[in-house]
Amino acid sequence: MSREKTEAAAAFFAAELLNWYDANKRDLPWRRDRDPYRIWVSEVMLQQTRVDTVIPYYERFMERFPTVRHLAEAPEEEVLKCWEGLGYYSRARNLQAGARQVVELYGGVVPDDKAAISSLKGIGPYTAGAILSIAYNKPEPAVDGNVMRVMSRYFLLEDDIAKPSARTKIERLAASIIPEGRAGDFNQAVMELGALVCTPKSPGCLLCPVLAQCAGRAAGRERELPVKSKAKPPRPELRLAALVEGRGEHAGKVLVRRRPDSGLLARMWELPHMLAPDEAAAVEAGAGHGRFDALSRGLAEEAGLLVRPERLWTEEEHVFSHIRWKVDVYLAEFGFFLEGGREAAAGAVSETVSEAASEAASGVAAETGAPYGGRSCGEEPPDGWLWIGPGDMASLAFPNVFLRILNDYFARRT
Ligand code: SF4
Repeated sequence: MSREKTEAAAAFFAAELLNWYDANKRDLPWRRDRDPYRIWVSEVMLQQTRVDTVIPYYERFMERFPTVRHLAEAPEEEVLKCWEGLGYYSRARNLQAGARQVVELYGGVVPDDKAAISSLKGIGPYTAGAILSIAYNKPEPAVDGNVMRVMSRYFLLEDDIAKPSARTKIERLAASIIPEGRAGDFNQAVMELGALVCTPKSPGCLLCPVLAQCAGRAAGRERELPVKSKAKPPRPELRLAALVEGRGEHAGKVLVRRRPDSGLLARMWELPHMLAPDEAAAVEAGAGHGRFDALSRGLAEEAGLLVRPERLWTEEEHVFSHIRWKVDVYLAEFGFFLEGGREAAAGAVSETVSEAASEAASGVAAETGAPYGGRSCGEEPPDGWLWIGPGDMASLAFPNVFLRILNDYFARRT
């Protein structure tokens, strides 16, 4: 396309799109004012999540944390609990870390300067552009997947949008056509067109306000664009989890543990689980004792927890961006905690642990109490472990996969 043609098409695009947006924009809760904090929260929630899903979460979150200061001062556990079900929990942690920076460095006012806002935790070029344009009407582009799709089709761009260079090119193009004084509306209009009309699989070209000058549609290529190379599929992992049922004073409860302070799903609660051993290799090495044994030994060695798996309860799946978990969940009877927990298990007593785990798997340890100096069911579990009942589900934050398993368990058991 010649430069003049591109400029004319760009001017047409901006004008028609804004007219369409003024008449058709959805009434969404974060569009009711231009508070930068509210826009920030909505943009973070909307990453990788549909608008319909986000609305109730957003409303609850705003009720609980109405200002950046409320969010900054809240316990992390409460923030994660409010986020539970939305997934991608590092977004919530980064959002809170960013809120704390805003309070400490900017007196609780979200900065309107590109360098300052871009230095906040969890704020990348898209979120910075969205906040600066929507809250402060600054002429900054906000390029997400919707915008890349619409622009690639309208301007017939063949760059691979999985590559950073394509994003940079589209950001430059978008910045060059933002109409004066309407940056926020323009950015939202492009996203809205992508969400409602120029959709990924079946673009509604006949209803599109910019159809008359759309180069992709004119070339009959609207369904092929944008070009996007395939991401590596998530690596499959089989996890073995134990639903350890309490007895005596813990009857009706199950055992959960808190994840480590860093890494995937940091500090959230979960059922004890482990990576399943490579069964083929184990059989070849003469150590293929089956999954009950593997789970019992694994939890003893990794976590200092002795249990006796009894039967398969359920199977669940969860896909993270880079891993696909298949989780086989076994009902298990509690044996005991090794004194010293994980450290003891990893250290000098590993022989003993192995023996105890074998016995737990075969039922001996679970029936005879805590013969290796462990804590039995009646005692308090070590730090980072809890016996929980259905009433505790409201106060602890679980990753989706464990939330599903536990809600289902309590519903079926009560
Ligand atoms: S005409 Fe079709 S392909 Fe072009 S922007 Fe509109 S919906 Fe997308």
